[in-house]
Amino acid sequence: MMTISYEYEGALYVNLTNRCDCACVFCLRHNGHKGSIYADDLWLEHEPDREEIWADFQKRDLTRYRELVFCGFGEPTFRWDDDAWLIDELRKVYGDKLPPVRINTNGHANRILGRDITPELAGRVDTISISLNGADRAEYTAVTQPSTGEQGWDDMLDFTRKAARYVPQVVMTIVDKDKTEADIAACRALAESLGAHLRVRAYIPN
Ligand code: SF4
Repeated sequence: MMTISYEYEGALYVNLTNRCDCACVFCLRHNGHKGSIYADDLWLEHEPDREEIWADFQKRDLTRYRELVFCGFGEPTFRWDDDAWLIDELRKVYGDKLPPVRINTNGHANRILGRDITPELAGRVDTISISLNGADRAEYTAVTQPSTGEQGWDDMLDFTRKAARYVPQVVMTIVDKDKTEADIAACRALAESLGAHLRVRAYIPN
């Protein structure tokens, strides 16, 4: 069985890939986890193609959800071309009734895809939520272990700054574990300097 979409707290989550260019120390994909607090069976045996994705969405009435969230068990922008296709197709069906669209991302899309995708977010994505995961370059790199090393920090900041031109709400998230007030203040200042808001999340042990 493959979980292409699933409901969680009134939102519909979209899971199109297991791939990621990071290896975050807290990631649920490690240690043989196949699901998360959100749903079981998130590990995809294969990446669903457009036909499979559309078949899954035809079973749903999207007007029932408060938000449509591209999140994935991996990094959703590995499938950005298909994410964008899906959003466009859903808009043809639902028009203004399509719930707001959010993407939860590590902010590495431009490096992953080899082009600046941020203009393509315009009119498609209402909220983008980028994992900040560290108060500075060294902490970020240690926690998220990007395949490009410290370059991942610069890529993430650059993506955030550019996305803020095209997306109405840009959020950077950190987890409060091991963070001092000063760390959080520094993260907030950094986020705001890029045109984003900081959201501090409670740590959930896995
Ligand atoms: S960016 Fe997300 S999917 Fe990738 S390793 Fe980190 S937590 Fe896991």
